[in-house]
Amino acid sequence: SVEIRGLRKSFGHVEVLRGIDLTVSNGEVVCVIGPSGSGKTTLVRCINRMEEPTGGSIVIDGVDITDRKVDINAVRSRVGMVFQSFNLFPHMNALANVSVGLRKVKKVPKAEAERIALDRLAAVGLRDKARARPSQLSGGQQQRVAIARALAMDPTLMLFDEATSALDPELVKGVLNVMTDLARAGMTMVVVTHEMGFAQRVADRVVFMDKGVIVEAGPPEQIFEHPQTPRLQSFLAQVL
Ligand code: ATP
Repeated sequence: SVEIRGLRKSFGHVEVLRGIDLTVSNGEVVCVIGPSGSGKTTLVRCINRMEEPTGGSIVIDGVDITDRKVDINAVRSRVGMVFQSFNLFPHMNALANVSVGLRKVKKVPKAEAERIALDRLAAVGLRDKARARPSQLSGGQQQRVAIARALAMDPTLMLFDEATSALDPELVKGVLNVMTDLARAGMTMVVVTHEMGFAQRVADRVVFMDKGVIVEAGPPEQIFEHPQTPRLQSFLAQVL
């Protein structure tokens, strides 16, 4: 589980997160929606300590990751993250991209790392692309490799930050299907997304952020069909 309490983050004089409280239970899928600049990316970057919070706490499976003494690499190997840009190593094939973290970070022997990597590539429908380099793959396939790479580390939590925003429209569905499979398999997930259909179908809970605070949170039916606040109502009127 993830327990976020009073999370604050400033860049200089600008406070981008202004007191976020959010609990994500094991196996729960939370989608984060909201206008550009509301702090969604900063929130997920704090959860794997790519950003250092200015205040508050984030406890993942009992470990306060905002503690300065915490081992950041241990945190990151338990928290998988998938970005808008896939960031694969261009000179490595899919199998090497997926197995490299296991070998370098977890010191898993090559044969075992490749066995795990093949298994994760199969889970995202790309077993037959193990020997392909990123340049030989579509954007959607590259993003699925990036998901397999995160899964290879056996994370307890997966973070997605607009994972489909950079993709051509016809490639979005394949990636969302992989994310849906993962959700159905019981993965704990925090998903920043512009895909309202995905949030509606897959989220257990939807969180609406605006100007660095959570304005409204609830099950998808409440958020999309019975929004309580004028701010969410006007946001939905723009995006739906
Ligand atoms: P989008 O949907 O456009 O990605 P977002 O909700 O994810 O937006 P953030 O990317 O978290 O929003 O940004 C929130 C605010 O923080 C923005 O005003 C942004 O300019 C600012 N910000 C983010 N990172 C930095 C940084 N490293 N230095 C200064 N300001 C930053």
